[in-house]
Amino acid sequence: MPKNKVTIIGAGMVGSTAAFSLINSDITDCLALIDINEKLAASQVMDLEHSVPFLGYTDVKVGNYDDLKDSRVVVITCGAAQKDGETRLDLLQKNSQIIKGLMPVIFKKNPNIIVIIVTNPVDILTNIAIKMFPKKKNQIFGSGTVLDTARFRHLLGEKIGVNPKSIHAYIVGEHGDSEVPLWSTATVGNTPLDAFKKISASEKKIIFNQAKNAAYAIIEGKQATYYAIAAGIAKLVKAVLFDKKTVYPVSHLLEGEYGLKGVCLSMPAVIGAGGVTKKVNVSITAQEKKLLQKSAAKLIEAENNLK
Ligand code: NAD
Repeated sequence: MPKNKVTIIGAGMVGSTAAFSLINSDITDCLALIDINEKLAASQVMDLEHSVPFLGYTDVKVGNYDDLKDSRVVVITCGAAQKDGETRLDLLQKNSQIIKGLMPVIFKKNPNIIVIIVTNPVDILTNIAIKMFPKKKNQIFGSGTVLDTARFRHLLGEKIGVNPKSIHAYIVGEHGDSEVPLWSTATVGNTPLDAFKKISASEKKIIFNQAKNAAYAIIEGKQATYYAIAAGIAKLVKAVLFDKKTVYPVSHLLEGEYGLKGVCLSMPAVIGAGGVTKKVNVSITAQEKKLLQKSAAKLIEAENNLK
């Protein structure tokens, strides 16, 4: 019986790269990949299996929904992906149907499983999943702005010449065009960013826009983004499997925080064995709160427009 089994639904670019990242991290003893394109899943599994002798031992297999029964985590990466020029919200109609179909299957097979949603638009899909299973709200979260935050920290690191790991700076809100950079709480080695190095307003704007629009730039050149999100997924899975209690800006249900209710978006939260185990109450400025509320309003409107 595996102890740290993970099922990934969707063996495309993101799902297969996440699998590779998990094998490389040596944190799962069994990895099941499910895809409606069974031939693709089988080929991905073969290729991944051949990496195992070089990396950590993981039993990699083509999965089916019975694999959820003894999995501790399921990562959802299936569905339509952004094409050149498309926004994440353009994917809503198709991918919401997939989530609505998947969620009952997942919890029927395993009521205790932790569900990490990566498929876009990740915030609305997370909200749809939680609305279907409100009692499981802590077990369901979206990768949210984990990726955008990594992009932001990378760019800041380059700007100020510091390892991004030593920079605490979050992008919050929608994983998408209305996301919000929290400049007011950004720190470097426990020192406010502005005190560490003055960055002008126009330079800040450039950095944020580069982080926000990175997916468009990458998709234009190589059709999809997957390495960075795969690394982020591996971190989230590790936090759950080993109860790491690590803070990540994941998409989760807001229940009155920041004046917002009934909407999923990213704010920092503690991730452990139970999923979202604690929310971090971040002291944001009035202007940041306004932008966060605007981001939420956009998500609520898009979800309400769903047929
Ligand atoms: P992809 O097209 O390479 O892979 C998607 C896979 O899902 C395909 O192999 C397809 O056969 C499979 N699929 C479709 N419907 C299915 C179903 N009902 N059941 C099982 N499998 C099904 O796309 P990708 O590049 O891997 O992207 C996957 C998703 O991840 C997209 O929605 C994309 O926008 C999203 N994404 C999210 C982030 C993030 O930060 N949240 C980052 C990158 C990509």
